[in-house]
Amino acid sequence: MSTDFDILIVGGGLVGGSLALALRHSTLRIGLVEAVTDAERQASSASERALALSRSTVQILDGLGVWTAVAAKATPIQHIHVSDRGHFGKTRLHAADQGVDALGHVAIARALEDAIQTHLDGTPITRLCPARVMGLKAGPDSVLVSLRHHDENVNVSARLLVAADGGNSTVRSLLGIEQDVRVYGQTAIVTEVNTGKDTRFTAYERFTPSGPLAFLPLGRRKCSVVWTLKDPDAEDLLQQGTREFTASLQNAFGYWLGPITLGSRPQGFRLKLIRAEKMTDDRVVLIGNAMHQLHPVAGQGFNLGLRDAAMLSERILAQAGFDEDIGDGAFLSRYAEARRRDLGRVIRFTDTLVRVFSNDFPPLVVARNLALVTLDRLPFAKQLLAHQAMGYGNRL
Ligand SMILES: Cc1cc2nc3c(=O)[nH]c(=O)nc-3n(C[C@H](O)[C@H](O)[C@H](O)COP(=O)(O)OP(=O)(O)OC[C@H]3O[C@@H](n4cnc5c(N)ncnc54)[C@H](O)[C@@H]3O)c2cc1C
Repeated sequence: MSTDFDILIVGGGLVGGSLALALRHSTLRIGLVEAVTDAERQASSASERALALSRSTVQILDGLGVWTAVAAKATPIQHIHVSDRGHFGKTRLHAADQGVDALGHVAIARALEDAIQTHLDGTPITRLCPARVMGLKAGPDSVLVSLRHHDENVNVSARLLVAADGGNSTVRSLLGIEQDVRVYGQTAIVTEVNTGKDTRFTAYERFTPSGPLAFLPLGRRKCSVVWTLKDPDAEDLLQQGTREFTASLQNAFGYWLGPITLGSRPQGFRLKLIRAEKMTDDRVVLIGNAMHQLHPVAGQGFNLGLRDAAMLSERILAQAGFDEDIGDGAFLSRYAEARRRDLGRVIRFTDTLVRVFSNDFPPLVVARNLALVTLDRLPFAKQLLAHQAMGYGNRL
């Protein structure tokens, strides 16, 4: 096995796996370190989560060659319906008005993981799995990494180490990079429901006095639900039996999709915004959840992480093409600077969503209802909103 790499990617999840795919046709020597075996991943219920994929994400996945496999199992979002329960504000976006076949798609994480793993098979990328990073040290020309691979200790080196090892990043901890954590005192309850009426491929975002409630279509008669509530309210709901919980959910959402029945056990996720205090260190760059962990409310985490991978791969290929050092500090700083704007914009957007739309302060309720009504009447403003929803805020 090779122990000398140009790039060592730690974490072969959605973002690290996508980066590896983006670089697979290059002549760079790439190592991919993943802690979880394929059999363990297949058995994990975390892979059952639904991901809202923006249109720009779909375009990147298409470029990576995996979209065809994912599309076969994904649901197109043809309409977005935003409303405020018990108030007058409402706005609707339609794919046809934007001249596109879908504003985005909803896919189960497992479909994406499977497609990425399948496409990695047969590439020259060295896969170390199951393996974990135990220590690392950056030198002038390379970073030295000690790994636990199966039951052996292995030392490898790389010109650049990419940390894509998720929210509890070991690489970030080993480097002592602090995190900026914002706790919202809210919990997102995630579940699936079967619907009495056809979803007609509509995604609903409904603002209720208890918090925002999203229904994402999974085919015609099923939806993935993300319901955000204050921590104590969520705890109470999670204690309820199936019948009582379904009645509470139905009451909050209404009958837009007829009577609903529960399709999976509701799970609670505490809402936090976690950001690493820096994106780079000597010969190391952090991407995906290792760098930023957003709450699932706005469905942005993977979309943002994939854009990290897309931009990093583009820049690495260009740098390597000029025979320049891909671990050079100035090169990594330029990448970090280029990503800062997109990151800041998405974080502000999700933060505003939580603060403004979870708030029942009367002037704010009136303001957001007026905004929804105004949006519904102004084609230009709607087009801007649709542009954001499709993930074109920052074109790559
Ligand atoms: C309920 C829920 C709903 C969501 N909905 C959406 C949505 O609608 N749209 C959206 O865009 N995003 C959504 N997200 C966010 C999205 O799932 C994450 O942003 C995305 O999975 C991040 O990918 P990642 O590869 O950075 O991290 P991860 O998916 O966490 O992958 C990290 C990988 O690194 C491996 N690893 C960890 N530690 C080590 C180590 N020490 N050594 C080696 N390997 C290691 C792990 O096994 C894993 O494979 C949602 C998240 C949740 C929880």
